[in-house]
Amino acid sequence: TLERDLGLALDHGGLSLHLQLQVDAQRRPQGAELLMRWRRKDGSSVPPDQFIPVAESSGLIVPLGEWVLREACLAWHALVRVGHRLPLSVNVSPMQFRQPDFVARVESILQETGVPPGQLVFEITEGLLVDRLDQTVARMHELAALGVRISVDDFGTGYSSLAYLTRMPLYELKIDKSFIRDTPHDKNGTAIVQSILAMAGHLDLRVVAEGVETAAQAEYLGQHGNASMQGWLFHRPMPLDLLVRHLGVVKQIGARRAADAQATEAKVNEAKAA
Ligand code: C2E
Ligand code: MG
Ligand code: MG
Repeated sequence: TLERDLGLALDHGGLSLHLQLQVDAQRRPQGAELLMRWRRKDGSSVPPDQFIPVAESSGLIVPLGEWVLREACLAWHALVRVGHRLPLSVNVSPMQFRQPDFVARVESILQETGVPPGQLVFEITEGLLVDRLDQTVARMHELAALGVRISVDDFGTGYSSLAYLTRMPLYELKIDKSFIRDTPHDKNGTAIVQSILAMAGHLDLRVVAEGVETAAQAEYLGQHGNASMQGWLFHRPMPLDLLVRHLGVVKQIGARRAADAQATEAKVNEAKAA
């Protein structure tokens, strides 16, 4: 039933995308991830953890993934129009990634929409790195040659070998939220977060911490490296129109802070001169 309804939802506008901002330690927006949402006709929502596996097993993930990519490109333009050039992250499922014409489809959507490839980050999961590694690495290089950036989502939860990290044109690691949940109160979880931060630093990879929910987690991350953060502490995933309004407010606050800082500095200088 889910499979049939999901197909219908794709054809009849039942799917939508939410965006969740990623911020730096000063809470400045650094990018956003697109997350798929499905509301059924009766008003109930089906969580992605339930319908993405169905989409994968039925092959529907291929047209779904393409729809997401196109929507991401439109969203990128919409954000640029309101003054925010934010890289957007898109989840790419293994099945979609392995389609023979995947790279060509990506290239044609980029050309069609005119989005600079470097403004897109493809999030893949470690599952993709377990088998057929040579093929996967070759494909990543093709995408990197286009200029698209590649991120490993839910990093630390898979079973892949660490040696692969140096063989791939990776841009970013996303620390899985299960480790962030245990930080900083649990010694083991914190040790894993710390190790990932150190490794990413040595390999020159960007890091995003997922599922940041508490001030203690944000504080820990702020003091140990310069990971970007994504989580309910900062922003919930929201529809594009809401995000646009929200960013307008963020910009106003930023401008006010800058003006305040300038005024303070002027006063200090005046006092010094006096
Ligand atoms: P993900 O890519 O790891 O996405 C992060 C998930 O964490 C999202 O769940 C997000 O809503 C949730 N999240 C964000 N901040 C917090 C927080 O502070 N605390 C907690 N507990 N959770 C937080 P969501 O939206 O339910 O998506 C679940 C998964 O479904 C995603 O995990 C991704 O693997 C998959 N997914 C979602 N959209 C797509 C898509 O367009 N394509 C594909 N292939 N997979 C998708
Ligand atoms: Mg993701
Ligand atoms: Mg994740």
